[in-house]
Amino acid sequence: MNIAIIGGGIAGLSCAHELERHGIVPTIYERNGFIGEQYEHVSAILEILHRPIKDAPKYFYDKFNIKIEPINTVNSLVHYSPHITTTIKGNFGYFFHRGKNETAFKPQLLSQLKKTKIIFNENADYKVLLKKYDYVVIANGSSNFTEELGCYQHWVNTYVRGAVVSGRFDPNALLMWINKDYCKNGYAYLTPFNEKKASLILVVTDIVEKQIDEFWELFLYTENLDYKIIEEYKLEHKTGFVYPHRLNNLYFSGNAGGGIDPFLGFGQMNSLMQGVFAAKSIVLGKDYEKLIKKLEKNNKKLHEFRKAFNQLTNWQYDLLVRSIDLPGIKQLLYFTQLNVVNVGGSLLGLKNKISTKGRKKN
Ligand SMILES: Cc1cc2nc3c(=O)[nH]c(=O)nc-3n(C[C@H](O)[C@H](O)[C@H](O)COP(=O)(O)OP(=O)(O)OC[C@H]3O[C@@H](n4cnc5c(N)ncnc54)[C@H](O)[C@@H]3O)c2cc1C
Repeated sequence: MNIAIIGGGIAGLSCAHELERHGIVPTIYERNGFIGEQYEHVSAILEILHRPIKDAPKYFYDKFNIKIEPINTVNSLVHYSPHITTTIKGNFGYFFHRGKNETAFKPQLLSQLKKTKIIFNENADYKVLLKKYDYVVIANGSSNFTEELGCYQHWVNTYVRGAVVSGRFDPNALLMWINKDYCKNGYAYLTPFNEKKASLILVVTDIVEKQIDEFWELFLYTENLDYKIIEEYKLEHKTGFVYPHRLNNLYFSGNAGGGIDPFLGFGQMNSLMQGVFAAKSIVLGKDYEKLIKKLEKNNKKLHEFRKAFNQLTNWQYDLLVRSIDLPGIKQLLYFTQLNVVNVGGSLLGLKNKISTKGRKKN
C-alpha cells in the first residue's frame, strides 16, 4: 500500500508511526527543511480538557507505543483576571518543549520512526499526490485544503503574538490572563522552559495582523511585565469544524481535521490521536469517523463553552477567577473526574446549537 502524508507535524508523524507498526512505510512530504517548530515555545497538555485521560504521556505510550517526554509537570495554575489572582496547586498536566532539537515534541516523534521516507522542502498538493498514491493523509496543520474541498466550517479566528522571554520563573507554573481590554475573547499565558526562560503568548480574537502589536503593548503595560524579550513571532490561528474527515482515499488529520480545540487553541493531543486513527482506518479498514467521534464531540462541547465564555464581561471574569479558589468549586473543577468540557457551557448558562452541516459522509 502506497501512502503519502502531507506535513511532518504531530499528526503526520504519529500517522507514520502507526503505519510502520502495521508494516507499511509511508512517505511524508514536509514543506520545511526540518522537523519541528519554526518558533520555539513551551506547550501544555492539561488533564482538565481531556478527562477521563489522566496522564497524556502514559496514555500515548500504553495505547500507541509512542514515547513523549515532557520537560516538566504542571503543578501550579495561576489565573489572572483584571482585579483578581488565584493560584491553585495540584497535578494538572505537562509542559512540552516545542522546537527543533531532540527534546522537542516533533523531533521526539521523528526519532521513533524507523523507515518512513521524508521528502523535505516540498510544498505538496493532494491533487498531485492522489495520482501517485493509494491514500493521501492531509496533516498540514491548516484548513486550506478542507476549505477548498468544502468540508470546513469556520469557528474562531485569532491572532497570536508570542515571545521567548528571560526572567525568573517557577518551572512548574502555568500563568494565564483573561482581560477583554487586551485580548478581547482570547487570553494570554506564560509557560516556562526552566527557571530562567519562558514562553509568553497573547491570543486575541477577531483582529487583523497589524492590530496585534497594539494589544501586545497594552498587555505588557497592564500586567506590568518587563521580561527581557529574546525572540518574537506573530501567527494567525484559526479553529473550525471539519466534516467529513475523509473523502474517498483522502484523509484529514490534526489541525487539518479540525483537531484544534476552539476554547484554548490547543491541539497536540487530538492531532496525535487523529494521526494514529487515520493510519488505523487505512490499514484495518475501520471507519475513521467512528474512531475520532469522541474527539469531535469534545471539540463541539468546547465550542459551546467558548461561546458561553465570550459573553462574560471583565467584571464576570473577576467573579469567575475568584470562584475558582472557593473550596467546593476548586475541588469539583480540578480534583475530581468531573467532565468539565461536557458541562462547562451549560454551567456558564448558555446553550448554543452547533451546526454540523457539511458534506455528506462518503
Ligand atoms: C504558538 C502556539 C502554541 C501552541 N500551544 C499549544 C499548547 O500549549 N497545547 C496544545 O495542545 N496545543 C498547542 N498549540 C497547537 C498545536 O501545536 C497544534 O494543534 C498541533 O501542532 C497541530 O498538529 P498538526 O500535525 O495538525 O500540524 P502541525 O504540527 O502544524 O504540522 C503541520 C506540518 O505540515 C507542514 N506543511 C504545511 N503545509 C504543507 C504542504 N503543503 N506540504 C508539505 N508540508 C506542509 C508544516 O510545515 C508542518 O511541519 C499551539 C500552537 C501554536 C502555533
